[in-house]
Amino acid sequence: METKFIFITGGVLSSLGKGITAASIGTLLKASGFSVGILKLDPYINVDPGTMSPLEHGEVFVTKDGAETDLDLGHYERFLNTSLTKDNNFTTGKIYLSVLEKERRGEYLGKTIQVVPHIVNEIKERIYNAGKGKDILIVELGGTVGDIEGLPFLETIRQIKHEKGSANVMNIHVTLLPYIKAAGELKTKPTQHSVQELRRIGITPNMIILRSEHPIPREIKEKVALSCDVDKESVIEARDAATIYRVPLNFLSQDILKPIAKQLELGDFKTDIGEWSDLVNKILHPSDSVRIAFVGKYLDLKESYKSLTEALIHAGANLDLKVDIKWVDSEEIEEDGAKKFLEDVDGILVAGGFGKRGVEGKIEAIRYARENKVPFLGICLGMQLSIIEYARNVLGLKEANSVEFDPNTKEPLIYLIDSFIDANGQRQIRTTSSPLGGTMRLGEYKCNVKEGSNLYKAYNSKIIYERHRHRYEANPKYKEALEKAGMIVTGESDGLIEAVEVKNHPWFVGVQFHPEFTSRLQKPNEIILAFVKAAKELSKK
Ligand code: GLN
Repeated sequence: METKFIFITGGVLSSLGKGITAASIGTLLKASGFSVGILKLDPYINVDPGTMSPLEHGEVFVTKDGAETDLDLGHYERFLNTSLTKDNNFTTGKIYLSVLEKERRGEYLGKTIQVVPHIVNEIKERIYNAGKGKDILIVELGGTVGDIEGLPFLETIRQIKHEKGSANVMNIHVTLLPYIKAAGELKTKPTQHSVQELRRIGITPNMIILRSEHPIPREIKEKVALSCDVDKESVIEARDAATIYRVPLNFLSQDILKPIAKQLELGDFKTDIGEWSDLVNKILHPSDSVRIAFVGKYLDLKESYKSLTEALIHAGANLDLKVDIKWVDSEEIEEDGAKKFLEDVDGILVAGGFGKRGVEGKIEAIRYARENKVPFLGICLGMQLSIIEYARNVLGLKEANSVEFDPNTKEPLIYLIDSFIDANGQRQIRTTSSPLGGTMRLGEYKCNVKEGSNLYKAYNSKIIYERHRHRYEANPKYKEALEKAGMIVTGESDGLIEAVEVKNHPWFVGVQFHPEFTSRLQKPNEIILAFVKAAKELSKK
């Protein structure tokens, strides 16, 4: 069938969970047998979020092909159980960059370059491209209607409706119904204004999804339907859910697919959401629990570890366990020691990170895990620090460090390699003066796994593929000494160290890659699953 488009815009304010809404609708359509593509448009000017602070932007999600993208892509992959690419997210900056490059090459044949048609056409082309071969493409527009940066995108949406016709395009608008305590009322006015703003730009919403902290009475839904000129059945309630994975089920129970099928002329179909619903049940009513310490910094901004916390939920759901996360600020370990924070946990996780702050506390946490035989998983920086810890405290190399923290260290256990072959087969050159944007080892790489290792047991495979996002590497010069002393390299990729394990320890694994990026509710990541399982089993003993 010809690709149909569902555009999701937001009104009133940001952070309404448009990403979860888009992913949930996608999940339902996929479970109904359609092939579903999904695309996030980000109106900000940065070329990609790679150089934005996690405090600004939350997590940077890395796709298989090495694109640094918006964290909503993570939700899309986790919900739709699919791998996306760099074509599934772009920003205003990326659009302008490519239009300007074309202009410099003279591709516009002397024309004046304008927002309409040139910028809009560039956006349109990329939307059509993302929809190729799909029955339905869901397109989420970041930001809120009324943002200046969003205008070219909204104009594109308007034009696509014009080009493709109303049986092929649906506009869904997500807004907030604020509850005013003093009046004891849910207020519809902001929604009405937001819809008016959309109409002014030439877009008529076909469905309104109302975020609300309270149940929405029928009269209010009818009022929204009337004032915003949508069918009653197209006003959908999105109440705060106990878990984000409940949202598709909440939508389904309101028959959300009926108006969608009607608008897009999808015909008859059945929706099979049984497996999903079982997993959600296990998230909500687990039989047992396990306590994992999550040692990191930026703990006040848990959004920057979104994929990892979701991956723990996936592992838990599949093991019928609640994974209780104990957040431990590594700087507090520096002050009070590791024991105080870690003696009551079943497993210790040290996640990825950048910069020197809190690093010594993380090293202390790793030492605690190693010496007390607590199951340990170190991810990216967590693996690098586990090597530094081993070198310092077992090999006796007191000055062991990463050149990231001490550029002149005498024992560069973690160093900067100056050239490597990237995911596209091209040689990349790195120096200390390389620009920071887009210069990391990014995306999926093959890793050869040592048979018999915990890594091997987790994946049950000699070759695995996982995603990367880092600048530094473990230095192979120390491999022999580390292995002699009991820290074994169990994963390698073209001479680069991808995983280490400690021999005389029940479960101690460090991985250079980010396993959390490939975890989905229906298919939890193997090494994270194995870690949670080990934590549970060993705590029983
Ligand atoms: N800062 C380290 C590096 O750049 C680790 C990065 C990470 O944990 N993602 O190699």
